[in-house]
Amino acid sequence: MSKIEQTLSIIKPDAVERNLIEEIKNIFTKNKLIIKDSKKIHINKDEAAEFYKIHQSKPFYNDLCSYLSSGPIVVMILEGENAVITNRKLMGATNPKDAEENTIRKLYGISIDKNSVHGSDSPDNAKKEISFFFKN
Ligand code: UDP
Ligand code: MG
Repeated sequence: MSKIEQTLSIIKPDAVERNLIEEIKNIFTKNKLIIKDSKKIHINKDEAAEFYKIHQSKPFYNDLCSYLSSGPIVVMILEGENAVITNRKLMGATNPKDAEENTIRKLYGISIDKNSVHGSDSPDNAKKEISFFFKN
């Protein structure tokens, strides 16, 4: 069964810095994900800590929050059939070394921390993450 849903995508600082915004957006749109909203922002470390609080007990949490707030990012609402899973497949594995060919992280990721994109991991988290960045 397929259903239209939304998910949150973030183009992380390493990819924004290398001017990969259009390339990454093209991968989404070529794969039937519509970009419903998009904005380039620069969040501070407290905001990154709130966004990633699900990882607060992990050893990489502090570095992760510093990293996400280290430069501009692009946050997007993607919409399409099974958008959460579709986006996760297009992203590839967390560590670019393990990511399949032609996934965003294989193509553009530098390392496990500088892995170019974030994507919600479930429909519930997608709702929370979208409302974190897009308040209306
Ligand atoms: N991360 C890291 N070191 C690790 C695991 C994760 O720096 O050992 C970073 C990585 O950038 C990842 C983010 O923390 O994208 C969130 O981790 P998660 O396990 O949720 O991976 P994702 O959902 O992004 O694939
Ligand atoms: Mg995750």
